[in-house]
Amino acid sequence: MPPSNEVLAPRTVERLVAGQPTSDGAGVKLVRLLTQPLQRRLDPFLMLDAFGTDRPDDYIAGFPDHPHRGFETVTVMLEGRMRHRDSAGNQGLLEPGGVQWMTAGRGVIHSEMPEQAEGRMEGFQLWLNLPAADKMRAPWYRDIPAGEIPVAEAPGLRVRVIAGAALGVAGAVRRDVTEPLLLDIALQPGAVFAQPLPAAHNAFVVVYRGALEIAGSAVPPQRLAILANRAGDGGAAPDGVRMTAGADGARALLVAGRPLNEPIAQYGPFVMNTNEQIFQAVEDFRRGVLA
Ligand code: FE
Repeated sequence: MPPSNEVLAPRTVERLVAGQPTSDGAGVKLVRLLTQPLQRRLDPFLMLDAFGTDRPDDYIAGFPDHPHRGFETVTVMLEGRMRHRDSAGNQGLLEPGGVQWMTAGRGVIHSEMPEQAEGRMEGFQLWLNLPAADKMRAPWYRDIPAGEIPVAEAPGLRVRVIAGAALGVAGAVRRDVTEPLLLDIALQPGAVFAQPLPAAHNAFVVVYRGALEIAGSAVPPQRLAILANRAGDGGAAPDGVRMTAGADGARALLVAGRPLNEPIAQYGPFVMNTNEQIFQAVEDFRRGVLA
């Protein structure tokens, strides 16, 4: 048996997606890398936003009180500080290197506001769908400071294992149905990282420093690289992904999960299975009984 992190039939890059510059909340500038048309292809993931700016005007207005229902939000903070408060009474300070995992379930109203007036703010927010049976579950929330995120190390590699497992290290969060993998990987120049992935799981990579090569394709920063659900050699079932850092090294997120294959109905911050459930969410929010 090869070691569990050996990948013999690596996935190719199916497509590089350029994000859409947009703004959200009270005017926070961000780049939406995973947009609505990709929700089916990248099921169970619904959205990925990247933010990164040194200009306070781009982030200072933050995200005042807003609702969510039916999915999970995962915020990966690289630089800067954001204060979170929600209707369930949770509050926390998201600091550099920290992660916040929030399961909105049947409903959360929260704010995400910068706790700094200057300096750099950089990170990602990923939306992970909930299975139909869990969309109305009780909300759940966890702040994971940088020091509590499990780290896997190998020569030339440092992998922060936020969810799933890598190099034999179990991540901070586990989900049974969607089995999300969320890795924040730092590679030294020329280093190689291989990660087994179930063939049916949808997966993508986002490079945010340096550059990577994946199965012969160059992956530049600020692109979402969709990984094919087949290997390069004639469409065989792939067993994972292998990435090689360029001359400047790289930092990247690797995201993968098991598709739900359920209907997706989205209206802004509500993601359900049917339009009726969306109308109900809007109505519950209007009547003040969402959360
Ligand atoms: Fe939010």
